[in-house]
Amino acid sequence: MVQPFYESVLEQIDATAKRIALDSGIHKMIRQPERELTVGIPIENETGEIEVFTGYRIQHSSARGPCKGGIRYHPDTNLDEVKALATLMTLKCAVANVPYGGAKGGIRCNPSKLSKKELQRLTKRYASMILPIIGPRRDIPAPDVNTNAETMGWIMDAVSMHEGATVLDIVTGKPLELGGSLGRSEATGRGVMISTIEILKKLKKDPKKTTVAVQGFGNVGSIGAELLAKQGCKIQAVSDVSCAIYNSDGLDISDLISYIISKPRIPLFKDYKLKKGDEIIKNEELLETDVDVLIPAALENQIHSDNADRIKAKIIVEGANGPVTKKGDEVLAEKGIYVVPDILANSGGVVVSYFEWVQGIQSFFWDIDEVNENLKKIMLKAFSDIWNISKREKVNFRDAAFILAIKKIAKAIDQRGIFP
Ligand code: NAD
Repeated sequence: MVQPFYESVLEQIDATAKRIALDSGIHKMIRQPERELTVGIPIENETGEIEVFTGYRIQHSSARGPCKGGIRYHPDTNLDEVKALATLMTLKCAVANVPYGGAKGGIRCNPSKLSKKELQRLTKRYASMILPIIGPRRDIPAPDVNTNAETMGWIMDAVSMHEGATVLDIVTGKPLELGGSLGRSEATGRGVMISTIEILKKLKKDPKKTTVAVQGFGNVGSIGAELLAKQGCKIQAVSDVSCAIYNSDGLDISDLISYIISKPRIPLFKDYKLKKGDEIIKNEELLETDVDVLIPAALENQIHSDNADRIKAKIIVEGANGPVTKKGDEVLAEKGIYVVPDILANSGGVVVSYFEWVQGIQSFFWDIDEVNENLKKIMLKAFSDIWNISKREKVNFRDAAFILAIKKIAKAIDQRGIFP
């Protein structure tokens, strides 16, 4: 059985706590979210019937600042998944050194089965129901799987209607016209590209001689693939939920992106008109493709103790949150595979979310170069901090990232003191 996601995250925290001899009280605090809210969200569907969906908002830690984290719409979303994701957000914000704690939200639903009007009603009702605990200085949501700038615009509107004033800084990842930041929608994929190029540099590998496979072709995977192709990497395989496409000479990423954005609702690769040399492969095969870099950018628990020994890539850059289980990680470590962990590799999104929040508070907006330069500066600093810890402590990259994050969170908790 695949190790449950939340158990995997807690096991990694426990291992780090032991390694750094973390105070046992602080360890207990980091293991447990500060606040958990579950809501039953009623909406009237297109035929006028009432349907009730389950939604969550978990605030894991506010030790280092307001809680921050995305909102996911997925049929498998559940309380433990959202708790795991909220915990990773706290660690990620500490790694990037942005002044936030961690949170996450989600609604258990299948967005492909809902009309746009139903999705809008669901989102606005959910926003109203979590409103007692969110706010620009409490907890600031953002997009995640199956949510986007449009979803954030709906949340901003729902909150603003309650407040009787426009509240720009309640969410990040908004449309540009509603106080969004330039570069936010590309930021996570850009961060994945920055992390990949940096690890290649450290390992003295040439991006132009590097082959890549990307699992998941949504916001993170598609932009990551596009930006890496621009750096000269050969993207040999990509996948979505329907299938994977492989081409040993490299896929036409621009054409795949044009295909995705040309349709009103997200189209699937199984209906894509293949180009010369393209072939359809199974999703599992993509993970086991013989490439230099594998970027899992879909969902958690994709690489685990049952398939980790079949991974042929020499480097894994985690675009998704939790794509490798703790047990899977141990197998990869034995095989000498470098893993750039999620809490570093996909932190570009929260970094530019932070820029958006700052810009919204100041009502002063930056140009794209300023956003991208500051993102790169922050990500390279975090990368170098983690690299140095991994060399000094002789631990792998994930262990080093967890050491960096947990020490920062522990220090903040200690400096604040326990209330009352
Ligand atoms: P998305 O909804 O835009 O895209 C998800 C993609 O994964 C889609 O192409 C979907 O078809 C594909 N997919 C789903 N299940 C799959 C499977 N079993 N095999 C192959 N492909 C599959 O989501 P996203 O925003 O790109 O998020 C992807 C991952 O990155 C998630 O783990 C998310 O938490 C993480 N993440 C996202 C952001 C962000 O800013 N959006 C930031 C940090 C981390």
